[in-house]
Amino acid sequence: MTDTKEKRYKWRREDYRENTKGLLMVNTGDGKGKTTAAIGVIVRAAGRGMKCCMIQFMKSKNDRYGEHESLEKLGVEVHTMGDGFTWDTNDKTQDIKTSEETWALCVEKMKSEEYDLLVFDELVYVLDYKFLDVIKVIDEIRSVRKKQPHLHIIATGRNAPPELIEAADLVTEMKEIKHPFHAGIYAQQGIEF
Ligand code: ATP
Ligand code: MG
Repeated sequence: MTDTKEKRYKWRREDYRENTKGLLMVNTGDGKGKTTAAIGVIVRAAGRGMKCCMIQFMKSKNDRYGEHESLEKLGVEVHTMGDGFTWDTNDKTQDIKTSEETWALCVEKMKSEEYDLLVFDELVYVLDYKFLDVIKVIDEIRSVRKKQPHLHIIATGRNAPPELIEAADLVTEMKEIKHPFHAGIYAQQGIEF
């Protein structure tokens, strides 16, 4: 392969940003595949030399998942939110605080103008739980989009609110037909985490 050809296949086009229409994509539904489909797009985009980052709302910084190892090998930044949610204590104030801190990091990344693709994993979940205001989130995305029309964003999580569906360019619903969970088979390495 010549240098030029290699470049073409390896990296994004020189006019990539000027000629790209950034999409707001939502992976929702009760079936498996929302997060892993978003990771699939990251794998594709990273191969084009696009700068990608994934921020995870529901996972604590002590959790190491298979995708963290793999994405870091591809040069993709992954951020997990730190303290975790307070499922046990049911402390809604803390959950809101954690969500807001994580969203602040999303805003920082959006505004940095460094990225081509940002994945906000399980953002939809915290919107559904109303830990964050969906209108505020959509407004922030829209205002960033004005300055960076090329920026692609993927949000994942069950029960996407209608306002988010309305604002999105692409919405996919994963539908559960069958899940091993119902046969008593719990999360397995490499498939779930
Ligand atoms: P994945 O990360 O495998 O793409 P997901 O993002 O679609 O799954 P989430 O809603 O984030 O799924 O749920 C997290 C975990 O719950 C995943 O490990 C997944 O396998 C599991 N899960 C997904 N759908 C179901 C279901 N219908 N019943 C039980 N567990 C499920
Ligand atoms: Mg998920």
